Amino acid sequence: MATSTYAIAIGSNRPGRHGGPVAEVRAAIAALDGVRAVAPIMGSAPLGPSLRRYANSVLLLDTSLSPPDMLAQLKAVERSFGRRRGRRWGSRVIDLDIILWSGGSWHGPGLCVPHIAFRERLFVLRPLRHVAPDWRDPVSGRTVRQLHHMVDRARPRD
Ligand code: AMP
Repeated sequence: MATSTYAIAIGSNRPGRHGGPVAEVRAAIAALDGVRAVAPIMGSAPLGPSLRRYANSVLLLDTSLSPPDMLAQLKAVERSFGRRRGRRWGSRVIDLDIILWSGGSWHGPGLCVPHIAFRERLFVLRPLRHVAPDWRDPVSGRTVRQLHHMVDRARPRD
C-alpha cells in the first residue's frame, strides 16, 4: 500500500513506568514510527467518574500500514504501556485512537475511521488543530478548524 498519513490521538491519565501522564504521552510518541508532527501536550478535565486529569496530544504519522494494521500497532503500544509493575494488568496508561486517515473513510470489524466521536471532543480537536487545521473530515465535509470552532463556541465558560 502507498504511503498515507494518519492523525493519531494520544491520551493518558495515569502514571506508568515512564512517569506521570505527560511523560507517558511523550514516551508513546517516541515508540511510534513515522511521526511527522506532534501537537503540544495539553491537559483536559477527567471524563466520567475518574478524578485524574488527562494529558492529551495528537500526532501526524506517515506509513504504508493499512488502517487495520495501524490499529494493531497502536494496540500493541497500548498493551506494552499498560503493564504496570506490581499489577498484572492495570488499566491502560496510554490510549491511542485513529482520528483521520488520508485515504478517507474506513469501516471494518472493530474499526471506524474517522473516529466516531472526534467531532465532539475538544481534547482531540484542540491538539488536532495545531497539526492539521485544514484537514477536511470526509464525513461532515468540515475542516478541523471549523469543527474545533463549533465545539469551542458551544463550551460553557466560567
Ligand atoms: P477505547 O477503549 O475507547 O479506545 O476503544 C478501543 C476500541 O475501539 C478498539 O479496540 C478498537 O477496536 C475500537 N475502535 C473503533 N474505531 C477506532 C479508531 N478509529 N481508533 C481506535 N480504536 C477504534
